[in-house]
Amino acid sequence: MTPIWLSAETATLAAAHAADRMPHALLIHEAPGAGGDWLAAWAARLVLCTQRDRAPCGACLSCQRVLAGQHPDVMTLRLVEDSQQIRIEQVRELSEELSLTSHQGSYKVGVVSPADALNRFAANALLKTLEEPPPRTLLILVATQPSRLPPTILSRCQRIRVRAPTRAEALAWLRGARGPGDWDAVLEVIGEAPMLAAAADAQVTVQTGREMAQGLEQAVSGALDPVATAEKWARSELPLRLRCFENWLTERIRERAGGATLFPEVRAGTHLPASRPDLNIRKLFEVLDGVRELKSSLDAPLNRGLALESLLRRLAARGPAGITR
Ligand SMILES: [Zn+2]
Repeated sequence: MTPIWLSAETATLAAAHAADRMPHALLIHEAPGAGGDWLAAWAARLVLCTQRDRAPCGACLSCQRVLAGQHPDVMTLRLVEDSQQIRIEQVRELSEELSLTSHQGSYKVGVVSPADALNRFAANALLKTLEEPPPRTLLILVATQPSRLPPTILSRCQRIRVRAPTRAEALAWLRGARGPGDWDAVLEVIGEAPMLAAAADAQVTVQTGREMAQGLEQAVSGALDPVATAEKWARSELPLRLRCFENWLTERIRERAGGATLFPEVRAGTHLPASRPDLNIRKLFEVLDGVRELKSSLDAPLNRGLALESLLRRLAARGPAGITR
């Protein structure tokens, strides 16, 4: 089932393919969890489907193999194990594979996701393939932060923007794809990211979300032990916890801003608690910066517990910054 918020993008690609104007390289710029990988797999099916007049049919052997992640002409680069970077060796392997003739005598497709995890050397190596793409090659980069990629790469890709769906669109898709469930509660925790929600353990997510909201409220009032809490959070579900932390902060900021949409990066919350006099917006932004920094450096050999502890202390600290409104 095509997610409804992606229907314009699939229509554009289908028209390009039908007119033999498929670009060599696509950059799918997605809102986190909004379906960039889904669209990449859809585009792979589009060019590899054997039923050209109704591609991607979803039923032919080619489509089935792409859906199962087993098509010999599709190669996907992902993060390997604990690494937060895609490395040059992986890119070299991809470039080599793309230069070979396809198994089916049609397209070769390379997918890099998340492309913003390409390190500098890997990005340079990929540039060579982008500059001289072998014929009938489709390279698809999926990124939530394309600004992390060199401009030389960006300028060689046709960009497709995948926006976050509305809550109603996300709920309808989740119910269709995963069946009934308390998806509203899951999205309340992780934001409008249905693909993340579909892959998450709903119960763990909702429970972690509640625990985080409670913990952060306690941190603000000074009723939380920052050392023990930070250690515990760093040990389990850290990426999910950081996402909860980020959402909690952006909602508090939105609330302090009077609910106005002054900050496009701040997601809309459905239930806004009463204003908090003890949280000022500048401090919230400072802590938010800290949370985002920690999120993007999860691979760095730093003490995550210590970094979290310092953020919790800043949230609790009362002083000139905490009193000024
Ligand atoms: Zn097909």
